[in-house]
Amino acid sequence: MAWEPKPWKRPPTSSKNREGYEGARLVCPHCSQDARFVERRPKWCQSLLGTIQVVRPYYHCRRCRRGHIPWDQAAGLGVAALTPAASEVASIAGVRTSFARSAEVTLQKRCGLRLSESTVQRVTEAAGQRLSELQHQKVKLGADRVWPWQRDACGKSCAYAGLDATGVRQQGEHGAKADGRMGLCGHSLQSAQRA
Ligand SMILES: [Zn+2]
Repeated sequence: MAWEPKPWKRPPTSSKNREGYEGARLVCPHCSQDARFVERRPKWCQSLLGTIQVVRPYYHCRRCRRGHIPWDQAAGLGVAALTPAASEVASIAGVRTSFARSAEVTLQKRCGLRLSESTVQRVTEAAGQRLSELQHQKVKLGADRVWPWQRDACGKSCAYAGLDATGVRQQGEHGAKADGRMGLCGHSLQSAQRA
């Protein structure tokens, strides 16, 4: 199964499922009992075009006493009420430089997104967690690529593979001692390029 970027889809707005309204009751996703519609609740979200307010139906389950808002899930509202696009941009910035610099400089200068350092950290770490889950599920990322391998004297395709590792020191919470990590970088060289 290959992963491909998907454009954001507007949540369903048919008469049956209007802006997240799924009827007077729905199945509670936490305990599978009935959750009833309570009211439409407003929420402020951060988008790439600025802060926007959305109003969506809120359901509550009496049994487990938890609330559920189907629209948030359908719209892909992520950590810290960021839209999917804002979340993606924030996490891209978060992996390229420090969370503090991303929040104070990169995101503001590039797209006017004003987030706190801790929000950039949470969004980036959540994206990393999702990526880790995809890797565990052995989902191939990126499109298929055909490599134009060189052929040796016997006509067999061949290449040189290289692997390098570097240690990255880690620091635990509140400066606590933590195990270091090892980053690995692999590359392949074709015989003609190597020469
Ligand atoms: Zn419940």
